[in-house]
Amino acid sequence: MTHLNSYLLALLLFPIGLCGVEIAITFDDHPMPGTERFSSLQRTERFVDVLDKHGCQAAFFCIGQACEQDPTHSSLRLLNHYGHFLANHSFTHRHLSQQPLENFVSELDATDAILGDFSGMRRWYRFPYLDYGCREPLGGSTDKMTAALTLMEERGYVEGYVTMNTFDWHLDMLLERAIEHGELATLETLKAIYLELLDEWCRYYIGVYDERIDRPITHTLLLHANDLNALFLDDVLTMIQNNGWTLVSPEQAFEDVSWREEVLADPSLLTLTPPSMDCRAIERRFQDAGLRIESRHEVIDEASY
Ligand SMILES: [Zn+2]
Repeated sequence: MTHLNSYLLALLLFPIGLCGVEIAITFDDHPMPGTERFSSLQRTERFVDVLDKHGCQAAFFCIGQACEQDPTHSSLRLLNHYGHFLANHSFTHRHLSQQPLENFVSELDATDAILGDFSGMRRWYRFPYLDYGCREPLGGSTDKMTAALTLMEERGYVEGYVTMNTFDWHLDMLLERAIEHGELATLETLKAIYLELLDEWCRYYIGVYDERIDRPITHTLLLHANDLNALFLDDVLTMIQNNGWTLVSPEQAFEDVSWREEVLADPSLLTLTPPSMDCRAIERRFQDAGLRIESRHEVIDEASY
């Protein structure tokens, strides 16, 4: 068989893997409070600039209570102006498994009322902590998850699903610590570790979904609207494109959620994580690179002695 024939055969057998991976960029917990490094608006300005540079439309999953901190909604207006999407991430960002369904609905409606003024608002809902209400140790059940999904649907919402989870929030916390300790010289190392981990995590999820879902899907990458991404989003998007993966609009992802039925029927798929997606594993990587680590849980451990 010639190379060309084997390539064509491979295309027929493995259309997803060879025809390219499509990834939509999504940010959670918008707008996050300002830090010493960036105000919330400055961070948003950086996101908008970088997304524009890459010709990329993104979805920002907003927390209603956080939006109310700025009555002028400056960062929401900026995102809306640049054609990004504003979506719902509850009002107070609590675990669904730990709260009654009535709260879930009232929070969804409260954030809907804030975002409803914007043309870029879409009825996409992302569960805080990716807790679909089915975590039994927290008091959840699959019945609760089903009820929540039905209530969402009745309100015209679709699930703002995540296929590529990340622990960028933990790296952001380590960044904050590095800045506190004046270790700004470590930023380049931190960036290198972040990109290395993100690459591993994306590849893991591409493999998992290729194996389990028997049709092409649009991946959604979960990032947070934090300082880490305000600093390194350009590098993240460049890495994705250099890997030959295509950045697509979140509209493409969320307009077809029918394949999610297979995932929701087996909630264990919702919590799949690669081995390196673990706080200790991430910190080990920092230590191996010679970076000082003083994470929150270590501080708590020390305080408990
Ligand atoms: Zn969140």
